[in-house]
Amino acid sequence: MRYQVPKGTRDILPDEVGEWQFAEERFRKVCRRFGYREIRTPVFEQTELFVRSVGEDTDIVRKETYTFDDRGGRSLTLRAEGTAPAVRAYIEHNLAGQAGRVVKLYYLAPVFRYDRPQKGRYRQHHQAGMEAIGSQDPALDAEIIELALAWWQELGVTGCRVMINSVGCGECWPAYLEKLKGAIGQALPQLCADCQQRYQTNVRRILDCKQEQCRAVTQGVPYQVDHLCPECAAHFGSVRRCLEAVGIQYEVNPRIVRGLDYYTKTAFEVSHEALGAQDALGGGGRYDGLVEACGGKPTPGVGAGLGIERALLVREALGLRVGAADGGRCFLAVVGQEAKCRAVALLSELRRAGIAADMNHTGGSLKAQLRRADSDGWEYVAILGEDELARGTVTLRCMNTGEQREVPQADLAREVAG
Ligand code: AMP
Repeated sequence: MRYQVPKGTRDILPDEVGEWQFAEERFRKVCRRFGYREIRTPVFEQTELFVRSVGEDTDIVRKETYTFDDRGGRSLTLRAEGTAPAVRAYIEHNLAGQAGRVVKLYYLAPVFRYDRPQKGRYRQHHQAGMEAIGSQDPALDAEIIELALAWWQELGVTGCRVMINSVGCGECWPAYLEKLKGAIGQALPQLCADCQQRYQTNVRRILDCKQEQCRAVTQGVPYQVDHLCPECAAHFGSVRRCLEAVGIQYEVNPRIVRGLDYYTKTAFEVSHEALGAQDALGGGGRYDGLVEACGGKPTPGVGAGLGIERALLVREALGLRVGAADGGRCFLAVVGQEAKCRAVALLSELRRAGIAADMNHTGGSLKAQLRRADSDGWEYVAILGEDELARGTVTLRCMNTGEQREVPQADLAREVAG
């Protein structure tokens, strides 16, 4: 029996890991610059957390969660998105303290959704996410977008398309949803099966459907952004002015409603044409009711989730790639059993001196060992054969220049350190 990775998941192999580390390091760096601190939450949560926050009638909760009972009969769900766990931890550990300050968090975490896999869409993907909890200030909505763009810029990803919208608040919804239902009602039979259900449970999401027939029906229907309460309209205006103040170009796209129920006011998505069908690089928005819905004091917040795989796919399309990790500093090529024992001690000395080193464990001729060390990218090879053993030396070869000289074993660490 040969096993394979589960459908929709991928191994990140050593040659690719350099790209991942690069993307993660740059995200940490940008987050620090903006005052966000890392949080790590468990890979699973109580199922109820996602049902309550993401929403019972969303695609994620209805069709995509990985949910199971543990041996104690508790229903658990693998992280289906990053905001709810961060908010749960914010409440549970009272991260705001007495002062009620803004708490800025970021995370790098796997997200699990049972979806039809295709290029750029996986059942386990990874998100770089950030949350600013504790203020309604529109400057924070703009800051989240600015931070996301700063990360992509660090990664060399240019050509991002920023689309923003306002999905309003509890004040704006009843009258607007009535209007929207009225506008769509006549054409109900023309909608796809999913949207016919959405009409009953989550009518706004019909705007987001990619099916041709649904797009046609929703052409010209009223949009929330044109029917905001005065407070939401003023907030949206401020977000726009803040974006303009920091020189971020954006479009208002009234169809952006996002697949999660907790959004209020600002919703945004950033796409990139190099991605093809699954073109979202990241998205997010404001969630002023979420902390309360999760059992905390009423507290506003805003955040985003950015796909790491998607960012790397764009880098690939743009021809950007950090080199595969190199082999290290010094490889010990060993000839003969006698030399082996000495090589083990020398290798340990090098590593204790902080030098990335390894030795040959699979025999073979000296020529074969040198060839392999070269293709694995080692900078130096220290050859230890019978002659060297007798003289207490190694033959040190610089792989770049091909230059060789004999050095005392006691000097090896110093010789290759520089
Ligand atoms: P969401 O939590 O759905 O707003 O997703 C945030 C970002 O994560 C998206 O904009 C994508 O970049 C990425 N993403 C979402 N779902 C997937 C998936 N199934 N596979 C790969 N990336 C994804």
